Amino acid sequence: MIDFKELITSYQNCPCGMEHRCDIKDIRIGSGLVTQVGQILRENDFPQKLLLVADRNTIKAAEGIMESLQGFEVEQYIYEKLRVATMDDVRLVEGYFDRVDAVLAVGTGSIHDPCRMACANGKKPLALFATAPSMDGFASYNAPIVDGNFKITYEAKCPEVIIADTKILAAAPTELKSAGFGDMISKYIALIDWQVSHLITGEHYCSRVAALTRTATDRLMEMADKVTLCDEEAAGAVFESLLMTGIAMAFTRTSRPGSGTEHIMAHYWECLELLEGKIPNYHGEDVGVTTLIMLKYYNELIQKESVRTHKEHTDWDEVYAVYGALAGDVRKLNTPDTITDPIDPEQLAQAWDEIVRIVRSVPSYEECLAAMKKAGCKTTIEEVGKSRAFVAESFLYHPYMRRRLSLRRVANMID
Ligand SMILES: [Zn+2]
Ligand SMILES: [Zn+2]
Repeated sequence: MIDFKELITSYQNCPCGMEHRCDIKDIRIGSGLVTQVGQILRENDFPQKLLLVADRNTIKAAEGIMESLQGFEVEQYIYEKLRVATMDDVRLVEGYFDRVDAVLAVGTGSIHDPCRMACANGKKPLALFATAPSMDGFASYNAPIVDGNFKITYEAKCPEVIIADTKILAAAPTELKSAGFGDMISKYIALIDWQVSHLITGEHYCSRVAALTRTATDRLMEMADKVTLCDEEAAGAVFESLLMTGIAMAFTRTSRPGSGTEHIMAHYWECLELLEGKIPNYHGEDVGVTTLIMLKYYNELIQKESVRTHKEHTDWDEVYAVYGALAGDVRKLNTPDTITDPIDPEQLAQAWDEIVRIVRSVPSYEECLAAMKKAGCKTTIEEVGKSRAFVAESFLYHPYMRRRLSLRRVANMID
């Protein structure tokens, strides 16, 4: 087991010059912990009046949690099912703050995200009881929330306390475990994009934080065949890996160490599907497939021994037409200037050898595909229910919906 306290402390006074903070005070991962939730909260000085937020599935998975909270005054809000967290959900949680002094979120992802944002706004302590190893965003200072139809990353907080019962994690639905694996495999693209941006624009990069993401991902790759088993040890190890990348994202206060162009492409899918009123897939399902698409593309791109480069030429009318109702939001992100404007094409051409080295430093498309299959992940666009035309369009246009440089975006400057 990883000593997370020691890990977090070891990142203080980092030579990179950035302050790496992570406000998680207590992390407990173990078998049968559901019966000790109240005890753990008390040990962490949690106030008496609690709001418990869950959905029908997560509260059922966390059987015994209410009994463990004896002595607390608990208000409950149980969603029927929450697949997409919106601003309304944030307001809903905030609406309890005249009556409760802390929040306990039961379930990662959509349940936890609005709680993280509401507790940041209302300065309330937050605890997470994780019920499935399905994604890694739970430790970061940002929460993806849908406002209108646009999914935006908002400032949020890390929970002070994270509790995971390995019995419950092991019994989680396999599709959620596989989705967690898909979310993790994406870190290879995230690490490429971060390094490329650092190389070309001087964006802050910390090799120690990157190494944390890398170690967590490599560790999970080795466990690919155990991911879907109902095995407590494997489930605990998967959760630890998710937590490590979550902490890496907390350390930089951005999702940069754990999210690259593949996440933006998956966001594009999600946002356009939301516009059409479709319920999006699990985050890690879409992200796993966009990761494979990007790995394949990056591997092909670096077959070029050298590159001829030019300024990026964008037909903005075309971009905004594709985004439809979201065009206004996308325009805001690209005016008065867009992220590639300051990049010198000559400098990009000179950096090519280094870019090739960066892409080669992560496992290949074939290796990742094989691992994902072992982990029961969806690996094709058909399996995640997208048409070829939609995927081709998203490949071209997704980079404009976020001000974050990626190798995918930089490739627009290559002949
Ligand atoms: Zn650092
Ligand atoms: Zn993710």
